Amino acid sequence: MPTAIHHELRINSYGHYLRRRFGCRISKVNVDAGFTCPNRDGSKGTGGCIYCNNVSFSPKDTQPVIPLEEQLAAGMAYHRHRLGSGKFIVYFQKYTNTYASVELLADLYRRALAHPDVIGISVGTRPDSLTDGALGLLTEIARDHYVCLELGLQSRDDAILARINRGHTVGDFIATVKRAAGRNFDICAHLIHGFPGERREEFLKSADLIASLPIDSVKLHQLHAVEGTELAAMYRRGEFVPLTLEKYVAAAADFLERLPARVTVQRLYGSAPLAICVAPRWGLKNNQMWFAVVNELRRRGTWQGFLAGRGAGER
Ligand code: SF4
Repeated sequence: MPTAIHHELRINSYGHYLRRRFGCRISKVNVDAGFTCPNRDGSKGTGGCIYCNNVSFSPKDTQPVIPLEEQLAAGMAYHRHRLGSGKFIVYFQKYTNTYASVELLADLYRRALAHPDVIGISVGTRPDSLTDGALGLLTEIARDHYVCLELGLQSRDDAILARINRGHTVGDFIATVKRAAGRNFDICAHLIHGFPGERREEFLKSADLIASLPIDSVKLHQLHAVEGTELAAMYRRGEFVPLTLEKYVAAAADFLERLPARVTVQRLYGSAPLAICVAPRWGLKNNQMWFAVVNELRRRGTWQGFLAGRGAGER
């Protein structure tokens, strides 16, 4: 097993990577800086991605009306108390966190970095929403802080991206990864599995795409429908049939076997509050999904990267 892979977990987990790199437990603290999204406000599209309801991934203490410093203090207190974390990465997650003037971005990022226990920032954005100015700002910050740029790809199939109203292509993602590479910050790719019409073999090819690019980290989750989205309406019309838990766990294990060991894994599950979760309603905690996938790898006697480079479908 490669040294980057945690022997028990069989995965190169992001948490362990941070601990190796910084020597202590690091938690990510979500903040809502009040951004919007070009795929919702009309500049790229309207209506947003068919599964998007940002309420589903916003902890209740992050509201744009609450000053950033207060959101941070509440988030850090929670993680200190619950996990004993000593240092923090401020996570700009909601909507498109580079979609503003460079001056505004600089103000927000610098305010987040002003706290002595904050070691860096993680910035979630779309591959078509990263100007040269924003890239330059992140490059400058990365000279003395940790920076992770999180780019949503979601699918490596342009037909699926069109069907889910993403408003960008796989080519946009590849071009942006290449522009962002070599700047001393981590690049993380977001992927989702379970889109209507998506074949498992096609999804697995996304691991080959990640392997071919200078990507440091991935987040993967199952497609799930939450209230207030087009996907929820599709589910009710019978046009979206969610994956079963067993199929998702097997596909996630297949994906990890093809993912190079050098790539850290940040997430394998997406959850939403039960009050707005339409389907599937697995009701798992993040670590329960994590261990379901780890147990599947154990059962197979494999680990992350076991099949890397052999191509989808080969075992
Ligand atoms: S790009 Fe992100 S924030 Fe924008 S509509 Fe899609 S999922 Fe929502």
